[in-house]
Amino acid sequence: MNDLEIKNVVENPTDDAEYIREVAEAKRALELWTMEPGFQEEFLAAPEATLKKHGLSIDVFSVKVLCINELAIEYQKRPLEEFPRVARRYRGFIREKLTERNRMAREACVPSHPAFRAWRWRQLNRCWAELGGKNASLIHGPITFELDLGCSVGCPFCGVMAGKLQKVCPYDEENAPLWQGILSFLKETVGDAAGQGTCYYATEPLDNPYYEKFAEDFFQVFGIEPQLTTAVSMRRPERTRAYLLEALEKNRRVHRFSVLSLDILHKIFKTFTMEELICVELLPQFTEAPHNRFAKAGRARESDSLKVEAADGNTIACVTGFVVNMAERSLRLITPCGSSAEHPTGEIHIAKEFFSDLDDFKRVFMSMIDRYMQTEFSKEMPLYLRPGISFDKTAAGIEFSREEKFRLKFLGADDLPPSLYHSVLDKLQAGGKTAYDVAGELMEEKDAFPANVFFILKKFEQAGLFLEPYEAPKLA
Ligand code: SF4
Repeated sequence: MNDLEIKNVVENPTDDAEYIREVAEAKRALELWTMEPGFQEEFLAAPEATLKKHGLSIDVFSVKVLCINELAIEYQKRPLEEFPRVARRYRGFIREKLTERNRMAREACVPSHPAFRAWRWRQLNRCWAELGGKNASLIHGPITFELDLGCSVGCPFCGVMAGKLQKVCPYDEENAPLWQGILSFLKETVGDAAGQGTCYYATEPLDNPYYEKFAEDFFQVFGIEPQLTTAVSMRRPERTRAYLLEALEKNRRVHRFSVLSLDILHKIFKTFTMEELICVELLPQFTEAPHNRFAKAGRARESDSLKVEAADGNTIACVTGFVVNMAERSLRLITPCGSSAEHPTGEIHIAKEFFSDLDDFKRVFMSMIDRYMQTEFSKEMPLYLRPGISFDKTAAGIEFSREEKFRLKFLGADDLPPSLYHSVLDKLQAGGKTAYDVAGELMEEKDAFPANVFFILKKFEQAGLFLEPYEAPKLA
């Protein structure tokens, strides 16, 4: 066996049981490090004995390289071959997961509908300006589903401020065909990207006793088992295990358990083997966990007792598109933003409408696309640069920036000299000029070719620098 070889652990996993075991043990060591109070001190004082106490036989140095910040940073710069074996394999596992996440954002979640696709890219690019590096962790899924109205768990940190559980959508003779019809319609309209959604959003998936049936239909239409994040993995552990086994059998992907207390963490460790949890991320969401961090969004914004991240501007929202609620039969159009007094949950709520049956769903869905999503902006539309972004003219072109989060350069070239970028920016500063206005004025004043001006405006548009037509009137 080539000791340096990195093997897949999630998708098409290796059948090398020893390899999987080592990755699972490294994962457990990190879970203990980040969630078990006292583990770090114990490990640093007596590393081997501490690992043994927790049933881990991996080497101490690998755990140190993965867990101790200074060592982790030092090794980050080194090629993978220089890592101790277990740490190397664990890093390979993390890379596998990150590669998949990036593939989802860049490819799998891209809608086939042209206007939806263009709008989603603009929002995704806008989020670089608003969220900085945090945007890399958002897949901007185009469609997601809720099977209930509200959530039974009531987490004090809930980033999307889910209300109390009010209604569950039964899988019955009325809802099952409606659900199947909606999925098929979305597959036709949005393409396979609709299958990247989850069957929860501001809901707890396992609140719905029919979750498995809904998920099975989803699999039949998209060939994908929807990703599950549950905060009640231990409410009925046999249900959780059965679902996970079946879901991972159909297609292997990463699911998540929100861990709400130390007691729940211990129960999870006792109930599931390390190998069973290899495709399950455990999210530390209790205050005693040493590495617990709550995103400052939703209910966590209002909390003094949680260790929320200090600054505003966070979000856990990862949908740029529609949330279909099956319990109240509604359709919401949302996109992430930094949380603020105006958008406490870190979502821009663009629209919400209700539907009564499948035909009505199709009508509402298409009318929302028509109303809010443009493939490209009309040249007769007044243009407004997004507020909060600074624009600097440089010798090479223009630089857009927002606080420390984002910096975007547009560099001049032969046909498009920096001076033309400067002139276009001057015309846009006041807001309200159309593309025709800008091109016409610059043709007269600077002999600029309209095609070149339109090209620059298009680049700004695609970068998400202009307000959308449905936002612009607010400033007018
Ligand atoms: S975080 Fe999830 S489980 Fe907790 S209240 Fe919000 S939606 Fe429910």
